[in-house]
Amino acid sequence: MSNSKKEIPTSKLKIIPLGGLERIGMNITAFEYEDSIIVVDCGLAFPQDDMLGIDLVIPDITYLKDNVEKLKGFVITHGHEDHIGSIAYILSQVNAPVYATRLTMGLIEHKLEEYDREHTAQGTKLMDGVRRKTVHFGQSINLGEFRVEFIRTNHSIVDAAALAIYSPVGCVVHTGDFKVDYTPVYGDSIDLQRFAEIGKKGVLALLCDSTNAERPGFTPSEKTLAPIFDNLFEENKNTRIFVATFASNVDRVRQIINTAYKFGRKVAVEGRSMVNIIDTAQRLECISIPENTLATIDELKAYPADKQVIITTGSQGESMAALSRMADGTHRKITIGAGDTVIFSSHPIPGNEKPVTRIINQLLQKGVNVVFQDVHVSGHACQEEIKLIYSLVQPRFSIPVHGEYKHLMAQAKIARELGFSKDRIKILSSGDVLELSQDSAEVTGKVTVGDILVDGSGVGDVGNVVLRDRQRRAADGIMVVCMCITSEGQLISGPDVVSRGFVYIKESEDLLAEATSVARSAVEECLDEGADWNAIKTAVRDAMGEFVWRNLKRKPMILPIIEEA
Ligand SMILES: [Zn+2]
Ligand SMILES: [Zn+2]
Repeated sequence: MSNSKKEIPTSKLKIIPLGGLERIGMNITAFEYEDSIIVVDCGLAFPQDDMLGIDLVIPDITYLKDNVEKLKGFVITHGHEDHIGSIAYILSQVNAPVYATRLTMGLIEHKLEEYDREHTAQGTKLMDGVRRKTVHFGQSINLGEFRVEFIRTNHSIVDAAALAIYSPVGCVVHTGDFKVDYTPVYGDSIDLQRFAEIGKKGVLALLCDSTNAERPGFTPSEKTLAPIFDNLFEENKNTRIFVATFASNVDRVRQIINTAYKFGRKVAVEGRSMVNIIDTAQRLECISIPENTLATIDELKAYPADKQVIITTGSQGESMAALSRMADGTHRKITIGAGDTVIFSSHPIPGNEKPVTRIINQLLQKGVNVVFQDVHVSGHACQEEIKLIYSLVQPRFSIPVHGEYKHLMAQAKIARELGFSKDRIKILSSGDVLELSQDSAEVTGKVTVGDILVDGSGVGDVGNVVLRDRQRRAADGIMVVCMCITSEGQLISGPDVVSRGFVYIKESEDLLAEATSVARSAVEECLDEGADWNAIKTAVRDAMGEFVWRNLKRKPMILPIIEEA
């Protein structure tokens, strides 16, 4: 293998995005060379308005399941949900080692632990069963025919990495989500020197973040927010201050704490997902917080209002998040009103304008002073930064990623300006199989991709999940499946399906009959195999759940009851 570089590769390199190219979210891309597959990122997407009752959207990984013997590992660029959110679900289906930097791994492990906790019945043990390795910047790992190097970048979360993926056909650079921040709040600036060195040696293709490709100029440094926060704290120094931002924006939280510290205020973080991320970042020393600055919500109450800061989730108007509960007066611990200031330190993601406006109105009605000006900078590269990366990396082929079609096209336009001919720019769709040789790039096929809708358990904010489960029980009702089985495993009566609070079934005799036959065949199949009662219950639950979901898009609680005759 040592002289393989000089040999002409016998096969082509395949790049197969399994998600992430029709939307911002659910990033996952397979790289394949002969018998080796590696996967970059395992993200999720948040549901659209029309996916009622659905909490999460994860990618269809049929392709990975079909090729599991080739799968060498998962390499993860950073710890945002659209890059790690589906990892527990995916690892429970295809087990392969996971590689990531420090904070990213910390957040991944939190997800695996959570998954294990919620799936004890199935005996899943991802924390024990999945190999994990924390990678340092500059370090390379060998995965079959691939070698992957992690390169430091800047983003709105610490420890974000770009990847140089070396294959027998050539080197592919994947930027991950990035911006160029010469003065980051924590840690070092993006390793531009390494991008240049790799570029000098020749790069086959560049997969570059397209999120802000429509925006001219540079994304300002996160540090530019410091004087803005200082001013706002000065202007509102007699009030209690709330700052709403993304749970995952570790750097922003750090900024706010800095300013709070300057003004002698104590800070509490509210919202389960934010508390988790900040705890993990603190434990791994990815955020430095001045001593005695953080407090719990309860501890905070011992201080006067003008010595309090509460950093909260819910800046996007999410109905379950802390800010929303404060605004509509249903938060357990915090009552918000006249004399309080709420600063929105985020822009609404397109589509979220309505819920954000609703919260602002609720806050204003309560007499809250709402600050909704530019207290936000993006974590993604604008046009000039994208040009910078292209100029350093000098790829043969341009593959815009991380965005809706219009974002990908905006990056294609930048590449054109930089002198790329049309045949050197590849706009892909999820599922496309792009085959690369040293001087060609062609889409040659399509693999199965799609959205798998998940109802929450195991991913994300546990508090929210529990709440949603309760709401769903109320809306979706209960199905009881009763049967009588002898100790010899003979079905002597049932299964009978009884539903409560489940209007849809009551209205449809045919469907109920069909449900009964689904339950019957599930039970009979188990009995043929000599399965025990627990296995029968699980089979009934699965079969009925699937049946009801397929026909009614509802998720009732399914309660199999077996009586021994
Ligand atoms: Zn990100
Ligand atoms: Zn992202």
